[in-house]
Amino acid sequence: MKHNFGAGPGILPHEVLKQAAEGVLNFNGTGLSILEISHRSADFEAVLDEAVKLVKELLNVPEGYSVLFLQGGASTQFAMAPYNLLPEGGKAAYVESGVWAKKAIKEAAYFGGVEVVATSKESNFTYIPKKFDIPKDVAYIHITSNNTIYGTEMHEFFKSPVPVVCDMSSDIFSRPVNVADFGLIYAGAQKNMGPAGVTLVIVKNDILGKTGRNIPSMFNYQTQIEGGSMYNTPPCFAIYVSMLTLRWLKAKGGVAGIEQENIAKANALYAEIDRNPLFKGVCVPEDRSRMNVCFVMENPEHEKPFLKLCEEKGIVGVKGHRSVGGFRASIYNALPITSVHVLIDAMQEFQEKNK
Ligand SMILES: *Cc1c(COP(=O)(O)O)cnc(C)c1O
Repeated sequence: MKHNFGAGPGILPHEVLKQAAEGVLNFNGTGLSILEISHRSADFEAVLDEAVKLVKELLNVPEGYSVLFLQGGASTQFAMAPYNLLPEGGKAAYVESGVWAKKAIKEAAYFGGVEVVATSKESNFTYIPKKFDIPKDVAYIHITSNNTIYGTEMHEFFKSPVPVVCDMSSDIFSRPVNVADFGLIYAGAQKNMGPAGVTLVIVKNDILGKTGRNIPSMFNYQTQIEGGSMYNTPPCFAIYVSMLTLRWLKAKGGVAGIEQENIAKANALYAEIDRNPLFKGVCVPEDRSRMNVCFVMENPEHEKPFLKLCEEKGIVGVKGHRSVGGFRASIYNALPITSVHVLIDAMQEFQEKNK
């Protein structure tokens, strides 16, 4: 058995994979594959409707918001958000908390002015910048709730006089959030919601239509809302597997239930990192992510042999991102706590061997 700590596409629940495999061969007893039915069929419409309903229910999405399943990944949202929200000649505020935030900033600059109101670049993004003012003349402020590469996470959000746009790609559905605090939430599915190929967007309807821009149909949230995420052929299979994952999450007690498990997993792993003299955490403790746990070894020469021990134990995907080095254990919703204990045992075994 493998213990999948990969950062993304990440682990999916085993039951979901089994159901998805069955749907590929014989979807809902139709004798057809989910891959070969019309997206306009009643069978697929029921899948999309249930997916939207589950998102609304699990995140307690208030009235006045639309839930969309789009393509192009979170990276397309880096451009689509400013395209739809940043007026000609206007500007937007960005918090630069990692590489994904930097990419979002780069795309926004194609559409207007960008004011970086806070950054943790000088420390290689080991903390979440928290002290900043939101300028009155910006169209929105953009944040990244979880910095997948550096292992930092915003544990608190803030009230804002302008819409808050949040990239939640790597911690959506890991805990409750108050959707009403946000104007736009987006997340590529492949970290914590489903397979690659679909992107969840939750947008407050009344922030749209204010830019004075002409927006091509596919890039226009309004067109996508009017089309019910079916302006064109949606990524049917990715939506199906996401829906199955959300069903699984609901059965586990929803985001409040999974949050408790995620806290238990993260606490156990960080406790070992702090206890074990061979390892050390990368980020400031107060901003540590519950999804991506980044750590290095006191002696860099230990890294290769430790990675080898991990391989022997079936632990996969723990090599750190090239911009941080060391290790990154992604402990998304679907990763069982038993896998976290296998990693902790490997760390303890390695310590014993290297006394
Ligand atoms: C993975 C990731 C992205 C990029 O997502 P794509 O779907 O590959 O475009 C953006 N933001 C965050 C926080 C991520 O973790």
